Amino acid sequence: MEKGIVTCTICPIGCSMEVIGARSSDLGYLVKGNRCNRGIEYAIAEVTNPTRILTSTVRLNNANLRRLPVRTDKPVPKNLMLDCMKVINLVEVDTPIALGTIIIEDILSTGANVISSRTV
Ligand code: SF4
Repeated sequence: MEKGIVTCTICPIGCSMEVIGARSSDLGYLVKGNRCNRGIEYAIAEVTNPTRILTSTVRLNNANLRRLPVRTDKPVPKNLMLDCMKVINLVEVDTPIALGTIIIEDILSTGANVISSRTV
């Protein structure tokens, strides 16, 4: 069963939490070191299926900028980051692009869209 030490990033306190598999717990895990309940779900997700917002750039045509900054609108599994980058690296877009425009819809069936991080 997974276990580990996790630093919570939900708020600036940054609790250091220990996560231990525990069949006796309803959640399947015991979490120690969290100052509030928000850390429990975060800590368990970090040891079972860690996710992150992915930020990158895509090639931009017809503009002074060469690259358009983009990010996912939801966290994506960390183990798919490299595969997502391979998809993102194939994309070129033309201006104009508005902040929040969907550049890649539902990347790798993660449920996350890659969106523009600025207006160009
Ligand atoms: S567990 Fe609660 S208090 Fe601690 S860092 Fe996370 S959100 Fe903040």
